[in-house]
Amino acid sequence: MASIPIIPITLIRNNVPAARSSAMLARIGHAMRRHQRAIQALQWVVVVFYFSLLIYPVWLPLPAEEARIVDNLRLFAQFVFWGIWWPFVMLGTMLLGRVWCGVFCPEGALTELASRHGLGRPIPRWLRWNGWPFVAFVCTTVYGQLISVYEYPQAALLVLGGSTVAAVLVGLVYGRSSRVWCRYLCPASGVFGLLAKIAPLHFKVNPAHWQHDTRRSHAINCAPLIDIRHMKSASNCHACGRCSGEHGAVSLSLRSPVSEILASTPQEAKTGEAITLLLGVIGIATAAFTWSSSARFVQGKTTLADWLMAHDAWALLQDNAPWWLLTHYPNAHDVFSWLDGLCILAFILGGGGALGLAVGAGIWLAARVLRDPAMPWQKLALSLVPIAGIGVFLGLSMLTLGHLKAEGLPLAWVPGLRAALLTLAAGFSAYLAWRMCLTRVTKRTLMGFALALLPLGLIVRVWLLVLFAV
Ligand code: SF4
Repeated sequence: MASIPIIPITLIRNNVPAARSSAMLARIGHAMRRHQRAIQALQWVVVVFYFSLLIYPVWLPLPAEEARIVDNLRLFAQFVFWGIWWPFVMLGTMLLGRVWCGVFCPEGALTELASRHGLGRPIPRWLRWNGWPFVAFVCTTVYGQLISVYEYPQAALLVLGGSTVAAVLVGLVYGRSSRVWCRYLCPASGVFGLLAKIAPLHFKVNPAHWQHDTRRSHAINCAPLIDIRHMKSASNCHACGRCSGEHGAVSLSLRSPVSEILASTPQEAKTGEAITLLLGVIGIATAAFTWSSSARFVQGKTTLADWLMAHDAWALLQDNAPWWLLTHYPNAHDVFSWLDGLCILAFILGGGGALGLAVGAGIWLAARVLRDPAMPWQKLALSLVPIAGIGVFLGLSMLTLGHLKAEGLPLAWVPGLRAALLTLAAGFSAYLAWRMCLTRVTKRTLMGFALALLPLGLIVRVWLLVLFAV
């Protein structure tokens, strides 16, 4: 195996502890590179665990009333997938970057393996379209709600297993030893890419060191196909560590969580990313978390059902859709009618879309008022990444808490923690907006800042309503 160049780490006389922690992080990054076999072994453990929890519970009966997570595999799998995996992968990405993708993700490992032995075709232009992560995220989220993916193992197998099959097929056809699926198509990649922007931990590239290091390049297999030498963003980096120490220029480092977003140029602020954030992560995802507990949803559906019955129109009230189209589990007394399905679609797409558009309109207006070529609406929208990320975590953790409540665990600490997270994220987003708008203090920039706070206030209002009913 090629030896890894050691990064020259200069000890800053007045800041020895900081220099020591930088050196330690750099060493961790180098160790990740040296121990790729161990990381691969870990990925295979995750693959086995993932398939066991995805497939086996499909054949298990419905849990009894008194069943618990610890003694019922079906409940255990449900808790692991939706109560731990998803919420904490989101939180982990905000803190550590996309380590999940590079070190643990079973889908990433499988698509890369398939790509190693596949046809190795070049990536077509249509596949590189930057709207795929948004489309895939919306389709998966909406479909998952229609078939109750959080509740039933059949539905989880269809959604998660379908995604894994698609990842393997893409790997078999396109790229060579790479993760074309993860880079361009994975339904979660858009969200992960946004959240990784505020991660304090990242693989930093120093272009000057790279340029001055004349040592021969090592062949690095960067699976998500990044031009490492020019990498500035953590969005696409899977934090796998394979390039750590390359040319003495790449190291695992700490940074300020605001640095990437504030330093991005107008050209680097992409419309696709902003739309994924506003309509996808803030709009559609919030609506998907909240429809089932919404009094308005129940009210609207009841009114429609009454109207249909009064007009003797029974077709939409039938509940004869198959389980892979709409939830259909008569044994669990859980069956959706066509009207249920249409109302869920309307709530998530209509309600979520309206929320995303309202938030986007506020950001667009703020950017118009600022009239600063360095601050397009796409970049200003990124100020909402912290509140959007915490929103996704809080929404997913509602499932975690539902499980813990059923286990009889004390949850008195939850409201305080939720309030603290919401306050922290709102403060972080407000700080980003402040830094972006108030590059100098004028009437115009103050007005732009005030306008940029409106969409943030709207998101906080929605979460206060959902979490605290206030
Ligand atoms: S740039 Fe590529 S090789 Fe380097 S850590 Fe990120 S994903 Fe891995």
